[in-house]
Amino acid sequence: MKTDLKDVFSALRDFNAQRDWDQFHDGKNLALALSIEAAELNELFLWKNAEDVNREKIQEELADVFNYAIMLADKYNLEIPDICLKKIEENSQKYPVDKARGNAKKYSEL
Ligand SMILES: [Mg+2]
Repeated sequence: MKTDLKDVFSALRDFNAQRDWDQFHDGKNLALALSIEAAELNELFLWKNAEDVNREKIQEELADVFNYAIMLADKYNLEIPDICLKKIEENSQKYPVDKARGNAKKYSEL
């Protein structure tokens, strides 16, 4: 079975509607929750070598991050593929290959 992003949107909407949790999910709280889940993901790596982190735990925290990001996108009626591709295009302008290739400098320092 192939699952796509629409299925995730739908499952999240159902999950939250069944619990009457939409009342808690304004933009601020969703953004904070997303940030907190990203911190939980970071915590897995804290004081460890990246290759020593448990893959299942990464999966769990990454799913939390994605789910809050999807809920936030849903809140603002944003099309995830569209906004991602738009941002990649913007970044390609900020980081032209001839200047950015092989280095990690911020665009303002290229
Ligand atoms: Mg978590």
